[in-house]
Amino acid sequence: MQQSKGAEIVRGKTKVLYECADEPQCLIVEQTDAITAGAGARRDVISGKGRLAALTPSRVFRFLNRRGLPTHFLSGGEDVDDNAMLVRRCAMIPLEVVVRGIVAGSYAKRHPGVQRGSPLDPRVVEFFLKDDERHDPMIVVDEIVTRDIARPQEVERMSELAREAFDALEEAWQDRNVTLVDLKVEFGRLTGGERNGEIVLADVVDNDSWRIWPQGREEAMLDKQIYRNLAQRDAEGLARVKHAYEEVAEAVAGFDSR
Ligand code: C5P
Repeated sequence: MQQSKGAEIVRGKTKVLYECADEPQCLIVEQTDAITAGAGARRDVISGKGRLAALTPSRVFRFLNRRGLPTHFLSGGEDVDDNAMLVRRCAMIPLEVVVRGIVAGSYAKRHPGVQRGSPLDPRVVEFFLKDDERHDPMIVVDEIVTRDIARPQEVERMSELAREAFDALEEAWQDRNVTLVDLKVEFGRLTGGERNGEIVLADVVDNDSWRIWPQGREEAMLDKQIYRNLAQRDAEGLARVKHAYEEVAEAVAGFDSR
């Protein structure tokens, strides 16, 4: 990545956004060693996490781009890039879009009559409003539209792209005998340039954004749920988390384009 950092724009829970000094239509996203859960209620620092948090989404976005899905990712994320990636600037839409192929997590809690671990056919797409204070409440499409968060066609487009991303990643994980259980993605509207206003996959898609169960076994999980579940956030527990993130960064490097 040739571009250099400009002014800091915003500091999130785990990453920092900078202007790109050379290209006004781009931003630089730098990952830190922090890991958080529960809207920041649980927070730790794992040395080397920033490196993995740059490698994984860059590799996933490269894969999605090769599959023809529009994302904000341009370049970077590898070890020479100082935990940073170059992205197109976009205005974020404050929604988390979740696609579910298997019953788990909050869906299982909200539907106690449904068997945990059972497949969802057709897949379910849910929207959550990004609002840490209110713990990201679920939001229905009508409310997204009436609150002017997105237009109906944009909601349609986000559902379509989220499903396509899920399909592509599910297949890539399946090749490694890993089940993609669910996936959270976020979207932005490109700002400036010929594609102004176009909806693209943005933020990151990484090991915090999905549930992945090797051989379909929940107890073998490799994703952030390991951290959410840690009873003791001691050195041994955090080392287990790091090891899983390393394994995932390695695995996604092999996602091909077909
Ligand atoms: O908790 P829930 O079952 O709704 O999560 C669905 C998916 O969204 C999971 O893969 C989880 O990792 C992801 N997620 C996320 N960020 C959140 C909440 C959930 O990436 N704030």
